[in-house]
Amino acid sequence: MKTNQQIIIAIDGFSSTGKSTIAKQLAKKLGYLYVDTGAMYRAVTLFAIQRGFVTEKLLDKKKLIESLDEIDLKFKYNDRLHFSEMYLNGKNVEKEIRTLEVSKLVSKISTVSAVRKKLVEQQQKMGLRKGLVMDGRDIGTVVFPNAELKLFMTASPKKRAVRRYKELLDKGEDVTYEEILQNVQQRDLIDSTRADSPLKKADGAIEFDNSDMGLKEQFERVYNMALRRIKEANE
Ligand code: C5P
Repeated sequence: MKTNQQIIIAIDGFSSTGKSTIAKQLAKKLGYLYVDTGAMYRAVTLFAIQRGFVTEKLLDKKKLIESLDEIDLKFKYNDRLHFSEMYLNGKNVEKEIRTLEVSKLVSKISTVSAVRKKLVEQQQKMGLRKGLVMDGRDIGTVVFPNAELKLFMTASPKKRAVRRYKELLDKGEDVTYEEILQNVQQRDLIDSTRADSPLKKADGAIEFDNSDMGLKEQFERVYNMALRRIKEANE
């Protein structure tokens, strides 16, 4: 019998389904590392915006691909906030990557295979020692297809847009509900129809619709699933 064998928990799903909230809580409770892969795609998008490689009308794939080696991404734990923040080339970009401007362009950047390859390699290295909760769009399908627990989170587009809208208002962003709904729907469409690593339910993933579920209930259910899988991994 193995003891203390840790597992990998892969959480995928549509935009603003509350994946990161659950993933963070779960990682904290289990003492696992939490990795928000959306933050990595957002940081690459911010880099592309700063260099003028992407706007709503254009994407200069060639220049972006040629510059990929200049992008250094790191997560650093913030002791005060109890949360890992995204650093792009040594600068904390946690705030800048969450703006609507980045949200509008990130799905376009995420279709570029060379970007995905770079980020997936980095993500797989983080899972070498297991003990990890990772959320994104392709974690159970591409990054960790053998993860011990895979979840696929869904919720109605309207519920998701309301959640996102409230979040951005709280952060003081000047946005309308309609803009957010449109962004959520557009990202879902691009993310689930792209050629490379489209968002879909992974083989063996448990579908989890949280449209009408409070946070506490969601967490309890997911936590119990995780405990079961950890027990199995130690048998
Ligand atoms: O999770 P979040 O909403 O921050 O992700 C932002 C975008 O990054 C997604 O809409 C998707 O285009 C892209 N993404 C991805 N693969 C991942 C994580 C995020 O393509 N594993």
